[in-house]
Amino acid sequence: MAVLEDPLAGVVGGKAARVLDSALGLQTVGDLMRHYPRRYESRGELTDLASLADGEHVTVQARIAKVTSRPMRGRPGSIFEATVTDGTGQLVLTFFSRGRQNWREAKLAPGMTGLFSGQVSTYRGKRQLAHPAYMLLDDSTPAYAAEEYANQLIPVYPAAKEITSWQIANSVDMVLKSLDVEDPLPRAIRENNGLCGLADALRGIHRPIDWADKNRSTKRLKWDEAFALQVVLAQRRVAAMAFTATPRPRKEDGLLDAYTAGLPFDLTVGQDLAGTTISDELGRDQPMHRLLQGEVGSGKTVIAVRAMLQVVDAGGQAVLLAPTEVLAQQHFRSITEQLGPLAEAGRLGGAERATRVALLTGSLSAAARRTALLEAASGTAGIMIGTHALLEERVQFADLSLVVIDEQHRFGVEQRDVLREKTAGGRPHLLVMTATPIPRTVAMTVFGDLEMSTLTELPAGRSPISTHVVPAAEKPRYAERVWERVREEVERGRQCYVVCPRIGGEEADGPGRQARGRATAGALGPEDSDWADDGSPDGDEPGGAARPPLAVLDLAAELESGPLAGLRLAVLHGRRPPEEKERAMREFAAGSVDVLVTTTVVEVGVDVPNATAMVIMDADRFGVSQLHQLRGRVGRGQHEGLCLLVTEADAGSASRERLDAVAATLDGFRLSRLDLEQRREGDVLGAAQAGRRSSLKLLTLLRDEDLIGDARREATELVRADPALAGHPALAATVNAVLDRERAEYLEKA
Ligand code: ADP
Ligand code: MG
Repeated sequence: MAVLEDPLAGVVGGKAARVLDSALGLQTVGDLMRHYPRRYESRGELTDLASLADGEHVTVQARIAKVTSRPMRGRPGSIFEATVTDGTGQLVLTFFSRGRQNWREAKLAPGMTGLFSGQVSTYRGKRQLAHPAYMLLDDSTPAYAAEEYANQLIPVYPAAKEITSWQIANSVDMVLKSLDVEDPLPRAIRENNGLCGLADALRGIHRPIDWADKNRSTKRLKWDEAFALQVVLAQRRVAAMAFTATPRPRKEDGLLDAYTAGLPFDLTVGQDLAGTTISDELGRDQPMHRLLQGEVGSGKTVIAVRAMLQVVDAGGQAVLLAPTEVLAQQHFRSITEQLGPLAEAGRLGGAERATRVALLTGSLSAAARRTALLEAASGTAGIMIGTHALLEERVQFADLSLVVIDEQHRFGVEQRDVLREKTAGGRPHLLVMTATPIPRTVAMTVFGDLEMSTLTELPAGRSPISTHVVPAAEKPRYAERVWERVREEVERGRQCYVVCPRIGGEEADGPGRQARGRATAGALGPEDSDWADDGSPDGDEPGGAARPPLAVLDLAAELESGPLAGLRLAVLHGRRPPEEKERAMREFAAGSVDVLVTTTVVEVGVDVPNATAMVIMDADRFGVSQLHQLRGRVGRGQHEGLCLLVTEADAGSASRERLDAVAATLDGFRLSRLDLEQRREGDVLGAAQAGRRSSLKLLTLLRDEDLIGDARREATELVRADPALAGHPALAATVNAVLDRERAEYLEKA
């Protein structure tokens, strides 16, 4: 008997095992059992030999008329052919083998009758089935057996050059015959949820009797995927409860109150509610673990700053982690401005209870970096703002008490954990923010160990954004009109963004990148791994692949000397030195630049209320969520926002439909669902959280919402009662396998 952990060689033989490993990376019995069929074919109706058509999957009932066997020409191996007839026509069955096929000759002897099924092709004018499946019939075979045989589902496996689907099927058959599995899922949970046993499910997904059998098996195996994940997450939640944190309760008349009093607006009801929850949790001696999600522009930053100030008022330090340098600089600029003298501790003119805000990014000068590190380590800086640089080992804090991560979808779990470990003798409170609204199931899965607050409303007085698709190829006049609109906005004293998918100018935009149509040319570091960047490439669509995507540098030069001559243009992209990026952003924010020609570095978080128009060139190169994010940069002040999606994609193409969808709604939740539908689950999970890719094979986050919810409930209950799974050793082993895979992948990536 074979168990799932056994190496394949012992069950399928050394030769087959070697090919399964080298071609498909399958090493254990469990690996092969989880190499699920890609689809199923039914053998096909019982067909007359007279009415066969090329390409059809058929089953014929026929008698073997004659057989021949000959060596292959120029290679070792043999060809065995059997000619069969049913009285209406003839058909050749062909079998190739590396060796002799005496055993086949013995079985498929002239005079025998059988059912033969496969795909019809024509070779040298004769109809044939190559490697048909067959069942020989004799007097004892009941009449209905033929019907049943023809209707049976044939699995089609993801195959490779070295190994065909039917060879895989052979190995699977051998494994199924000797498989002995222990069901990790407790019986009560199986019964509650109407799930079949694991052994039955594995047999049923590989060798279904009918569709109902296949569906029942798939449901059970999906459950395993969802359940293992939810057990891991439930364990993380339980483990997190065991950590302590320093309580940082709210103090009156501190920085927080001063900051709030100085805000030029009232908080929305949602901000107030989320803020109160967070404030309460910061006051407890257990670390907060909260995800704050909200539509673009819903005002998450204010909540984060208030949380940080509460912590500083109570004597702790807080860090704010941004995904890009541009965003880190903007946060730094706006928070220091808003705090004024309150952020100038130790300086002349600094307020008495003041703190300091320090910026730490990867590109600071050595001296500035030393100062920032010192301020963090000594505790002088109550608030640190930065990018990934903050994750480095060398950064030490005097008393880190709150970690805020802005735009979480750009960070992996492991990064969160690195920062958390910088707090001595406990854990910091954690606030994660995301502006890409997350469908509920993704939230339960990817962010399943966090509590959640959601901002559903935008602050009052926000102006609507109108979005239009500009079909540049079909209507050149519209394309010209784009630049006229930009000039009009500028004449009214407003500012505009022009976004391109590529930087241009240098070899760094190598052909590989262009060919894939990635929209991240400008972005270095985390921008490159963003899940939102990967949704768009439809290299196979006309208009997309014909020319390289438009580049910031080319377009800026063209606009400057052409349609936007006389306006004040600036260029922003990830390859510019940090000081220049910072200056371009500062000048744009101050209004001394009219038009910012840029890559997606402005995608997240950038906040310039006077910017009212955004032109997105080659918009079909961007993903849905990314376009939604980008457009969220306008319409932030009292003036209406305008977003023009310029594209050469053909009307009616998938790209155009995607753009039309973005133009048709401002509902980020709807768009993120659409986005998710269009990408493979693995991409979402893989980018958002290391290791999930390989554990989810059957589960689809959008369609299996109910199942995931059920699994989560059961997992939570089970783990609450038995956190270490002491009473469920088989389940513990399964969960450990998920974790090991995660760890292995994380190490590979690092
Ligand atoms: P996001 O949630 O996308 O990060 P921000 O925090 O950048 O949004 O906020 C967007 C803009 O809205 C900022 O200019 C901010 O000052 C402003 N804002 C935040 N809260 C309110 C409010 N309650 N009323 C009016 N404006 C607000
Ligand atoms: Mg933001």
